[in-house]
Amino acid sequence: MGKCILCKKGTFKTEYHPFTFKINGRTYTIPNIKHEVCSNCGEKLIEEETKKYIDEWIKEKLTS
Ligand SMILES: [Zn+2]
Repeated sequence: MGKCILCKKGTFKTEYHPFTFKINGRTYTIPNIKHEVCSNCGEKLIEEETKKYIDEWIKEKLTS
C-alpha cells in the first residue's frame, strides 16, 4: 500500500485487530481482522478482500 490518503505523510502497515460491529442491536466481534494502519495519523483501512471475508462471516452468523 502507498501513502495515506488522509494525511499524505504516513505509510500504511498491516496490523491485526478485532473488528466489532452491531447488527439488530447485537454486538459481534471478529478477531484478527487485517487492517492497514497509517503510521502517521492512525487512519485504519480495511481492504476489499477483507470486507468480503467480513460479509461472509456475518452471513454465516445470521443464518446459523
Ligand atoms: Zn495518515
